[in-house]
Amino acid sequence: MPQKEDYYKLLGVGKGASEDEIKKAYRRMAKQYHPDLNKDNKSAEAKFKEVNEAYEVLSDKEKRARYDQFGHAGVNQNYSGGQGYSSGSPFESDFDLGDLFGSFFGGFGGSASGSRRRVSRGSNIEVSVSISFEESAKGCSRTVNFERVAECEACGGVGAAAGSAKKTCSVCRGSGQVVVSQRTAFGVIQTMSTCSHCHGEGSVIEQPCAKCGGKGRIKRSDSVEVQIPAGVDSGQILNVRSKGNVGVNGGGSGDLHISVNVKPHQFFERNNDDIWCELPITFVQASLGDDVVVPTLEGKVTYHVHEGTQHGDVFKLKGRGIPHLQGRGRGDQMIRITVEVPKHLSEEQRKILKKFDSVSVPRNYQKKQGFFERLKSMFS
Ligand SMILES: [Zn+2]
Ligand SMILES: [Zn+2]
Repeated sequence: MPQKEDYYKLLGVGKGASEDEIKKAYRRMAKQYHPDLNKDNKSAEAKFKEVNEAYEVLSDKEKRARYDQFGHAGVNQNYSGGQGYSSGSPFESDFDLGDLFGSFFGGFGGSASGSRRRVSRGSNIEVSVSISFEESAKGCSRTVNFERVAECEACGGVGAAAGSAKKTCSVCRGSGQVVVSQRTAFGVIQTMSTCSHCHGEGSVIEQPCAKCGGKGRIKRSDSVEVQIPAGVDSGQILNVRSKGNVGVNGGGSGDLHISVNVKPHQFFERNNDDIWCELPITFVQASLGDDVVVPTLEGKVTYHVHEGTQHGDVFKLKGRGIPHLQGRGRGDQMIRITVEVPKHLSEEQRKILKKFDSVSVPRNYQKKQGFFERLKSMFS
């Protein structure tokens, strides 16, 4: 975590500055760095947040005293060891040791931090893209449009309107918790509960930002350009870090999950990194052999089917398959032969085939011959 700037330095006041001086310095700086006046200026936006944070602490007597004594660790959860918060954690960190100690021991001073701002990482967003078979084999780029909850640019995520600020909650005086007394048979029991006025935030927004209604977050459309690698298969998910929904109280954004859908191809089917393709030929081509045209990812190639090719025979075109997603090389293209038996024969064709059959000899049909010999021996 980077070193945080001293809050007094940030506001440009001395350590002994009066409440009034701090307020004036804050107003001057908040105006100077307000996102409304610094459109698309990231450093101003960051500064505006820092200034707000500094003022939130220094304008509060208790917090200021803790800050003077312990520095940032005294006022910021991210710096205190005992709490269950961690920014960037994939789970919502609702668990807080302060809660346990508070309720078991009534130790109201046990928690080093005052307000108990809930820090949680934003949720992931799931979208899908459809690409063609060729694109999956060669890789492609896609602009993916989606909706995400993002930081409100009008208030820089603070939730306060221009010129206004977050004020320490008057009900819980910034601690985010209030003591609730309950009369029971054993006497009065005091328990800590989350302040309902500020919902445990410890601060309230006096004048909410008009654009986001004080939430500091807003839904808007976004897009990313993604490179889809060659070899990606249907159902695989590409992860784009931090393009999901923005988190709460600086908890970081979730990720964008892009699920890839590969559309079916008219010739090709994928099996691991091999491409399978069915090739119908006539029984004459199968018998005599022929040059046939086969589709591949790189276009048409000529393949020689040798004479005596059987139905269901498989041929391999080496290295014509899908590139391996991890590592070099490619799969193969497999061609499965379908021998088509002709239908709707003319009289002339019938005559020719019958003539052909009359001059056929057993060695033309070795499978059939073998079958009948086995059959004969079985029943003899
Ligand atoms: Zn806003
Ligand atoms: Zn409160």
